[in-house]
Amino acid sequence: MKKIRDYTLEELETELINLGEKKYRAKQIFAWLYKSLRSFDEMTDLPKELIEKLKNNFILDCIEIETFQKSKDGTIKYLLKLSDGNKIESVLMQYKYGYTVCVSNQVGCKMGCNFCASAKIGYIRDLTPAEIIGQILEIEKKENVKVSNIVFMGIGEPFDNYDNVLKAIRIINDPKGLNIGARHISISTCGLVDKILRFSEENIQCNLCISLHSSRDDVRSGMMPVNKKYNILEIMNACKKYIEKTNRRITFEYALVDGVNDSKEDAIHLAKLLRGMLCHVNLIPINKIKDGKYEKSTAERIMAFRDTLNEKGIVATIRRELGSDISAACGQLVRNS
Ligand code: SAH
Repeated sequence: MKKIRDYTLEELETELINLGEKKYRAKQIFAWLYKSLRSFDEMTDLPKELIEKLKNNFILDCIEIETFQKSKDGTIKYLLKLSDGNKIESVLMQYKYGYTVCVSNQVGCKMGCNFCASAKIGYIRDLTPAEIIGQILEIEKKENVKVSNIVFMGIGEPFDNYDNVLKAIRIINDPKGLNIGARHISISTCGLVDKILRFSEENIQCNLCISLHSSRDDVRSGMMPVNKKYNILEIMNACKKYIEKTNRRITFEYALVDGVNDSKEDAIHLAKLLRGMLCHVNLIPINKIKDGKYEKSTAERIMAFRDTLNEKGIVATIRRELGSDISAACGQLVRNS
């Protein structure tokens, strides 16, 4: 059956017209979908026949929390089960400014980055918009909180599931949907150049993050096979076009690996690459994964790397490590556990 939260308001209007209903009903229904309701029966301003029709044509829920683990820093990792039995993980983090949910967008991932646990489990399928949004709704319901920020940094490559992710973003952003401002939504990509260009045309104010991890093609290709398809120069050119088009600052994510990409020369090389760009570097101490060959850089080296970037005029910050004691940190999410 169709998942009712897979549709934007405009699409739901078409669905209702196809069912012989008036267009305005879609607005009423859409508004209910993002309140915490358990059944179509709770849509109290709809006629009984319409509720029956909805029940016969759509399902409301398609994802549920199976288990969760709480970190000593307060971060919570959830294992969620989809209607077909597949499982994914999502993370809730608490910051001074509110709650952030890190959502998954695929069951597994095709990209094969050799430092990421999500890549090791292979790819099964894309998530639909309802399954992406369902992660947020289920967590909000369970914890009785209102989430203020969403990061597409869980399992999967968002630009490899472009249409569903974009639709989910539109619904998350819609004032009648989850009503989360686009500036509070971040999407992270390993650098699919064609999609970066497409994203620059979307007229949406989300934050774009690029997983760079090295400014040298040989090193980057060793870490991320996708670099053989789209190299650093191609990514930079696409990023420049994105900035030109949107006037928005890009975040470059850079996971520091001991002895691989964390020397002073690496920092200088990176600063040269990014010079003059409207950007920001987010340094991530690499998280160890099972059978992973990479070791985390020391805190001193991480700070020195940041300082070199700053001295060269590149704004760089170090990402707070949350949830690593429960394998909920960057790159540690898996589709089954
Ligand atoms: N597929 C998207 C989103 C993935 S995860 C992407 O590649 O951007 C979000 C961030 O965590 C990415 O920058 C990713 O490269 C990084 N990451 C993956 N594994 C990591 C690890 N073991 N330690 C630190 N960061 C990691």
